[in-house]
Amino acid sequence: MTDLLVMKFGGTSMGSAERMKVAAQIISEARAQRPVAIVVSAMSKITDLLLDTMRHAEGGDRSGMDQNLDTLRKRHEDACRELLPEAAQPAMRVRLEALIAEFQRIAEGMLLLGDRPIRSVDEAVAIGERLSSQLVAVYLDSTAGIRAEAVNGAEVIVTDSVFGNATPLLELTRVKAQAIVSPLLTQGIVPVMTGFNGATQDGRPTTLGRGGSDFSASILAGVMDAAELWIWTDVDGIMTADPRLVKDAAVLHEVTYAEAAELAYNGAKVLHPRTLAPLVEKKIPVYSKNSFNTGAPGTKIVPQLKTAGGARAVTSMANVAMVSIEPATATIPGTRIMARALDALALTNAEVLTFSSSSYRQSFCFLVRREELTAVLQAIEEALSLELAHGYVKPIEVEENVGLIAVVGEGMRGVPGLAGRIFTAVSREQVNIIAIAQGSSELTINLVVRREGLEKAVRAIHEECRMSELAS
Ligand code: ADP
Ligand code: ASP
Ligand code: MG
Repeated sequence: MTDLLVMKFGGTSMGSAERMKVAAQIISEARAQRPVAIVVSAMSKITDLLLDTMRHAEGGDRSGMDQNLDTLRKRHEDACRELLPEAAQPAMRVRLEALIAEFQRIAEGMLLLGDRPIRSVDEAVAIGERLSSQLVAVYLDSTAGIRAEAVNGAEVIVTDSVFGNATPLLELTRVKAQAIVSPLLTQGIVPVMTGFNGATQDGRPTTLGRGGSDFSASILAGVMDAAELWIWTDVDGIMTADPRLVKDAAVLHEVTYAEAAELAYNGAKVLHPRTLAPLVEKKIPVYSKNSFNTGAPGTKIVPQLKTAGGARAVTSMANVAMVSIEPATATIPGTRIMARALDALALTNAEVLTFSSSSYRQSFCFLVRREELTAVLQAIEEALSLELAHGYVKPIEVEENVGLIAVVGEGMRGVPGLAGRIFTAVSREQVNIIAIAQGSSELTINLVVRREGLEKAVRAIHEECRMSELAS
């Protein structure tokens, strides 16, 4: 649809009845101009609450589980009471209660089993989004004067079966979107789709990974050939650094798809790392906007910048671990060990955040997310079991007390001495740099530093590269 606007509202933009009313106002203004489709997150902190409830269930802690269920009910009942006119409340309560009961049934199963199967987690955790989409759709429809209908993303987004971190199958999703979303738009009804979830071809519920509602929205925008995607969040756009870490972080008015993808991949929570992929080919523009400050222009994500600006933003990730592998002798070529290790890594589906090798020793190290470490080590130790047993490879070393920094910007390649300035700024703060990697795109420089120096180093780089000044 040529003029379709897809808008996604994140957890804080769905956080209360008051925030939902603001979202409805934004939807109503956009709807007056053009067709819109909405994607919503669960109310803020609800996904964490659902996951925590399932952990209590698995651990046999009924009272912890019941306490969480009370909180879940209260958050949504409060929102229902504050949002809807009295006459519309009983029907809404029935819908909410049915979804909460569905969640409870799954959690009870986990309590009984003392287990938390990942497939059941995916089915249960998406109930957060199913609750919020019902509230918003019914509010729009019954009170705000906008015809709207809640849509379960599981009926639209077709994925592979990697539960917890599924990948969409875009052609199949396009067919579903045409069957379910397009007819609503044709009738002038605003679809309010759940973010975060999908289902396999044979209907098993999946999720797209934490923060995945951004991805849901971009998948929908991509398969619907939307004109634009607007992502509403709680900051004024994509900034030169996480504003919670760097006080004078500034909004970047334009960033490229490549810059945004690098920032997201390297830990800028403002976008889910896979958000941009479905949009790049069709050059669908994306805006990141603040639902708490609707007048601000936000960030526009574009294919290219008019003038490339060097180091523009810096991100960090704390929950990472560095794995180092070193051949002990020259008996086996180092590259073979590397290939074997990487093959094993690929099978785990873990993401390698940076990779660095030295040529003489053929030793190499790489960074993975801490939650993926156990699976990664298991796979590599298995793949290299003979070499380890014979002493051809030294025992694998793991360093958990590290953090990853990424300095990102189109045109960094053209700035002489930039890398040197960055390293000097970090060393000036007495922070040890453990590893350095520069991707072949030269859009990103990665540094691995000691965990305790991470925030200091981020601030030092932000200041050294005058990122706030350059942004404005
Ligand atoms: P939502 O619930 O709307 O999806 P998130 O909490 O996932 O919102 O993402 C928004 C948060 O991302 C901001 O509150 C901010 O603290 C954080 N953030 C981290 N890095 C950046 C950055 N470079 N620019 C903007 N925000 C960032
Ligand atoms: N509710 C999900 C989460 O918290 C998805 C999202 O908000 O993007 O991870
Ligand atoms: Mg998010």
